Amino acid sequence: MRKFDVLIIGAGSIGVPAAYYLAKKGLSVGVIEKLPSEGRGQNRAAIGGIRATHSDPAKIKICQLTIGLMNSFEKEHDIDIDWISGGYLFPVYDEVLENKLKKLLVTQKKFNLNIDWIDAGKVKELVPGINPENLRGGTFSPEDGSASPLKMTGAYLKLAKEQKAEFFFNEEVKGFRIENNKIIEVETNKDKYSADIIINAAGGDAKEIGLLSNLDIPVNPDCHEAGITEPVKPFFKPMVVDIRSDENSANYYFYQNKEGQVVFCITPKPSILGKDTDNTSVFLPLVVKRILNLYPRLRNLRIRRTWRGLYPMTPDGFPIVGWTKEVSNMFLAVGMCGQGFMLGPGLGQIISEIIVDKSDKYNFILDQLTLYREFAGIELLK
Ligand SMILES: Cc1cc2nc3c(=O)[nH]c(=O)nc-3n(C[C@H](O)[C@H](O)[C@H](O)COP(=O)(O)OP(=O)(O)OC[C@H]3O[C@@H](n4cnc5c(N)ncnc54)[C@H](O)[C@@H]3O)c2cc1C
Repeated sequence: MRKFDVLIIGAGSIGVPAAYYLAKKGLSVGVIEKLPSEGRGQNRAAIGGIRATHSDPAKIKICQLTIGLMNSFEKEHDIDIDWISGGYLFPVYDEVLENKLKKLLVTQKKFNLNIDWIDAGKVKELVPGINPENLRGGTFSPEDGSASPLKMTGAYLKLAKEQKAEFFFNEEVKGFRIENNKIIEVETNKDKYSADIIINAAGGDAKEIGLLSNLDIPVNPDCHEAGITEPVKPFFKPMVVDIRSDENSANYYFYQNKEGQVVFCITPKPSILGKDTDNTSVFLPLVVKRILNLYPRLRNLRIRRTWRGLYPMTPDGFPIVGWTKEVSNMFLAVGMCGQGFMLGPGLGQIISEIIVDKSDKYNFILDQLTLYREFAGIELLK
């Protein structure tokens, strides 16, 4: 039986960076992944947005760390991850939304976020050709940005392996042997492992992993589709997020990546619960109508492909992070909703400080994101 200090279930947006930061601090780390390679779960469905401009202290802190790591990543590791610090723009066309976002600015500024209200003229400069009719301005956070989910997870895999983390692909966790409230053996379809600490980073399957140890983890995925165009010369930089709703969809967002392709996705209304990742014929007409209304300049771009993935959702839209009371050596890093890619690097670093350095400076995150909260509120910018 193989023995590790830490065994991570899932080599996705969360598991791979966590493996790197833990191994870098000297722990022996094993990662079990049922798919053939890293990032092939929901990580590859993400369109690449990374922002610290959330509405709550825990996610703000985690993503501020991620952005700090992204700013120095390519220089430090000499690996291209397509990081662009192009900012996030929430354009505003009505008074109600203007008031709502301006109110949120007060909270966001309290957490030292670099975000401000900009007037319509500045919005037009940032996104030349954006629909000017009734445009009132928007909020803009210049330090947010985007990167390639596949490149980033591939980069973290390389770094983790250099730190001697071991990855077991095509291998599925099937059960635990538990004694005295502690997992003493992890069984897969191929082997058996033991570890001092087990991290559940199983994304859309977090609930099933919980059930193997009789834990009820409220992560229920819903389905989201995305698409990508042909590449063209860069003509706008920020991630544009339209948080208005219509009868069939809630927010949608899009940006131009480093290759020049416009990448976009939309939140369907009502939510489509479940794990079906077959893409549909409904998505393109829905998203294209709304995007072209906001940004008619995109009308001649050809769409190359679409795909469908899952948001591993929790009832309140916030992740679940921390130790469980029922199983003493189980740490949860699940329920990342629509933001697991941007949370991954920062959270990986934080997890390594909690586990290895026994740091208590992130207790406020563990308190806020505990499994044992009420799940009563709802994240404003989920
Ligand atoms: C269309 C779309 C757009 C998105 N855009 C963004 C974005 O712009 N920015 C952003 O931050 N997020 C975005 N997301 C959300 C993001 O993709 C997810 O939040 C994130 O990938 C979740 O990370 P994870 O590590 O929890 O899960 P995953 O990346 O899915 O990793 C979990 C891994 O666990 C493995 N696993 C599960 N069960 C087992 C088992 N029993 N044994 C072994 N392995 C197992 C799975 O195979 C999987 O590889 C988007 C999602 C979608 C669908």
